[in-house]
Order: sequence, then structure tokens, then C-alpha cells
Amino acid sequence: MNTRLILVSNDDGITAPGIEALSEALEELGEVHVVAPDRERSASSHSLTIDVPLRALRAGERRYAVRGTPTDCVLLAVENLLSRKPDIVVSGVNRGPNMGSDVTYSGTVAAAIEGTILGVPSIAVSLDHASHGEYEYGPAARVASTFAGLVLERGLPEGTLLNINVPNVPESELRTARPTRLGHQVYEDSIIEKTDPRGKSYYWIGGQSSSRSNESGTDFAAVAAGHVSVTPIQLDMTDFETLAHLSDWLLESTVGSRGTNGSGGATLSETGGDGEGPRA
Ligand code: MN
Repeated sequence: MNTRLILVSNDDGITAPGIEALSEALEELGEVHVVAPDRERSASSHSLTIDVPLRALRAGERRYAVRGTPTDCVLLAVENLLSRKPDIVVSGVNRGPNMGSDVTYSGTVAAAIEGTILGVPSIAVSLDHASHGEYEYGPAARVASTFAGLVLERGLPEGTLLNINVPNVPESELRTARPTRLGHQVYEDSIIEKTDPRGKSYYWIGGQSSSRSNESGTDFAAVAAGHVSVTPIQLDMTDFETLAHLSDWLLESTVGSRGTNGSGGATLSETGGDGEGPRA
């Protein structure tokens, strides 16, 4: 059997302890290649760098530090740096959880999204905050390796990735994995305003307090109870329930004038109309 090619990335940067623990733990499954940002790019979401050239600096054997985002890293690795398409992309282990709506900001999850788009089964792994402030990455890295093994064996549905969140507790206290859905959280005081030495205001995003809804079945509830949370995330964000009602809705609207049936039905026309309405 061919050696499995495993691509590891993250958004905390190539020197983060989480990626070190992860790449070590994955060695048991195959040949691990690390391609990660050269510095922390947390909350970079699924962004690509298109305004400056990308540089990939060798940072060791099978290791590259990229001056770019997690998405840049996975794209560059798969398209260029690796000798062939990897068998799996594993992103993490992130310092801090990625649950609920945070997955939309997360660079950790974005790296797995990019892998999924490129047709590679992908998982994202994040470690919850610790009440005592210390992050213990070993247990989460071993959880990641277990799931990576499962995914390598069974694959994932096309367009679906796994988002895994691990409680920050000693391995002996870690409880079983739970399948979960994304929960909700509300950030309070999310903007901090301060005054700079010249008397002008500046702002810092990132409120300390968020209220998580611990509704059962969610990622938040699982992690709060000490379970490993595993959420399947699909890239097709279409809301099919609303889609079913949307044609009625559009019939009543006045958008566009050239319906395909000639009856004046509404279409989201790309022709730009006849000079009315807003233009970009
Ligand atoms: Mn991060």
C-alpha cells in the first residue's frame, strides 16, 4: 500500500504548539507535511491573498511557512508544494474552540473548507479554553489522529468536512465523542474602545464574555459536558427549505422584467434592466 500523504495546516501559525502536537500525533498514519502561515492568522476566515505574492519558506523537512492565510496554505500545498494530492487535510489543533457561528470566522475551519473544495477529505480540530488558562494539546492531537484514521478508512461525503472540538481536560477525564450540530452564542461587549496617547479613539474586536446556548445536541453542550464534539459541516449553504418557497416570493416582486415564460414573472435578471435601479 502506498504511504498516505497527510497535509497539516492551522491558523495559529507554524510555530504554534497545537500544530506541533498534531503533526507528531499524525505520524502514525502516514507521511506528514506541514504547510502553515508564518504567523498567527486566527479569524482570517476563508480568505485568499491576491494582492501580494505568496512566499513559501522551508521551515524543515516537509515543512513550509507561508506568508499567507490558512486557505492560501492549503491551496498552495495541494496545487504546488506536495508531490501529489494529499489523502487528508487536518487543520489545528487550534488554541480555543471553534463552535457555533465562530466557524464562519475561523481560519482553522477555513483550511479544512479549502481541502474539501479541492476534493480532499478534511477535518478541523480545536481545543476549548481552559478555566485555569493552560492549553494541553496532547489529548486533542490524539483525538485528531483517531478521527483522521477513521476518515482515511471511510472517507467523507463530497462537500462535507468534520469540525471537531475537544474539551481542555486531562486525557483521563475526556468523555466519548458526540455527533453535534452547530450551536449559538452571543458576544457581549464585543468592541472594546480605548484612547490612544494622542487622545484619539481606537477599537479592539473580541469581547471577553459570550453567552453560549447549551441546548442539547449542540457542539457547545457536548464540550461543556466534557465530550468531544464532532459536527459535520457542508459547504453548500443553500437553504433548501426557503428555496422551495422562494419562487412564490419572487413572483410577487418587481425584480426584472423578462421572465422565461413571457408572462412577466420575476427573475433575478443579470441584464441590468433598462437603466432603472441601483448600479454597482
Ligand atoms: Mn487560531
